Amino acid sequence: MTTYTLRPYQQEAVERTLQHFRKTTEPAVIVLPTGAGKSLVIAELARLAKGKIMILAHVKELVEQNHEKFIALGREAGIYSAGLKRKQTNYQITFASVQSISRNLDSLIDPYSLLIIDECHRLSEDEDSQYQKTIAHLRSLDPDLRILGLTATPYRLGLGWIYQYHYHGYIRSEDSKPFKFCIYELPLRYMISKGYLTPPRLEDAAIAQYDFSAITPDRFGQLPEKPVNELLTRCKRVTNSICQQIEALSEHRKGVMIFAATVKHAHEVLSYLPSQSSALITGETPPEQRDQLIRDFKSQHIKYLINVSVLTTGFDAPHVDMIAILRPTESVSLYQQIAGRGLRLSPNKTDCLIVDYAGNQFNLFHPEVGTTKPNPDSEPVMVFCPSCEFGNTFWGKKDTDGNVIEHYGRRCQATHLSEQGEPIQCDYRFRFKNCPFCNAENDIAARNCHQCHEAIIDPDDQLKKALQLKDALVMRCAGISIEIKESRVTVIYHDEQGETLQERFDFASPGQRQKFNQLFGRRFQHASKPIQFKKAREVEQLAHHLTSPDFVIARKKGKFWQISERIFDYEGKYRKAHQL
Ligand SMILES: [Zn+2]
Ligand SMILES: [Zn+2]
Repeated sequence: MTTYTLRPYQQEAVERTLQHFRKTTEPAVIVLPTGAGKSLVIAELARLAKGKIMILAHVKELVEQNHEKFIALGREAGIYSAGLKRKQTNYQITFASVQSISRNLDSLIDPYSLLIIDECHRLSEDEDSQYQKTIAHLRSLDPDLRILGLTATPYRLGLGWIYQYHYHGYIRSEDSKPFKFCIYELPLRYMISKGYLTPPRLEDAAIAQYDFSAITPDRFGQLPEKPVNELLTRCKRVTNSICQQIEALSEHRKGVMIFAATVKHAHEVLSYLPSQSSALITGETPPEQRDQLIRDFKSQHIKYLINVSVLTTGFDAPHVDMIAILRPTESVSLYQQIAGRGLRLSPNKTDCLIVDYAGNQFNLFHPEVGTTKPNPDSEPVMVFCPSCEFGNTFWGKKDTDGNVIEHYGRRCQATHLSEQGEPIQCDYRFRFKNCPFCNAENDIAARNCHQCHEAIIDPDDQLKKALQLKDALVMRCAGISIEIKESRVTVIYHDEQGETLQERFDFASPGQRQKFNQLFGRRFQHASKPIQFKKAREVEQLAHHLTSPDFVIARKKGKFWQISERIFDYEGKYRKAHQL
């Protein structure tokens, strides 16, 4: 029997779980980086639990790995996995594969008190999924079933966050998610600085790179296979020289994982690498052959292991000391998942070389923002809420001094607890449209006002209607300038061709001053520092921090154009100024 001492953070994860489930049965998730030793956290929870427990995983390797860690503690547990040729339900603790168990739910008749789901980012809300069927069945046996998920990446491209509220006091999604709370999370940086993971060596060594930026992602944010293959077919010489460089860089390295973009691409990569020491695994590789290849790789008979989207999670080869990324990775999470394959500790391993040949430009330590990167030069920026001071992470841009000059956040993500202990989201908005009826601030995509429930006109309809009118003018606004004369502030809207429209706010009139503040003071510095201007002079000094609208609509009044609408934070189908 082996005895384990849990690392301090593993112990804390266990304690947080116990505390949480003493209070509530709401499903919860723990986020630990790859290599943090999730299986020990699972083993400890299983050891402490009183009732029957099931631990679900999606591949038999993970079922086996978790089971091994547990029985090494000197305890007994069953396995339910067709792939492992065992179907045991009579133990207090069962390690099961979701495929096998969801097909045999009738064989589960005793209530389970705790369900642990490993790699739980695979869980969706689709009721017909294997996970949801299993959950529904276990809940029918015990309505108080506790559900705990573990993952390194609580975010999935296209589906978003897998949980709704974070214990640090912020919201990830206004929609319901498979897990209500994240109750514990450790960042990669912590694990590396404490020596629990191998430091990555991120070298900008790539001699040649693919450029996937011209390919439009599908609705899940993923690049479709066909154009990717077409692009790679045109890049044969690039692929060849990349492979040569991988060989040269890995001369003194033990295990190299190569992430290819498509099956076709993977075969090409394989053809350029030394045939004796290279292998390829795709989704179609037969299980026995796949197992053999993984064994050969772990025993270092194979040095180069190429794969296409199959070895990003649940694959454990600690000796890997080089990762070559030849595929587009559309999210920070996916990038971290891939890099994480090379960060496990192993004797005599001092670092892991990570080379990105696909120009992904992600930082391994960046937080996941949770929305698709709006453009290639965006980076995660910290934006403090003027109302509650919470530091939000949004996509944005910084100037050379590190000041945030632009961001894409919509609403503050902070939560505070109600008297009933329910999290409530801060209502401060960075981007919004005012309800034309009650003036409440609504999300830019809202169809009905959250306060008075009246329908809010869609900006696209507004623009379309104005474009049809003879006496209306729609300006694509490229910027604004300000002129001050005594108490009067004139806002001049400029389009791309240099045409202008203007309107004047006389600060001597409280109504006009208020209107200006509502439009421009409220959105000062992209609404991260709203101010109330009292005097026209103050506007002059701070004019360069005013936010411009994207469109301005004017109506003909005699000889003049009178501004009727200013559309800020536009995200519809019409082209904005300086967009292609
Ligand atoms: Zn706030
Ligand atoms: Zn309203």
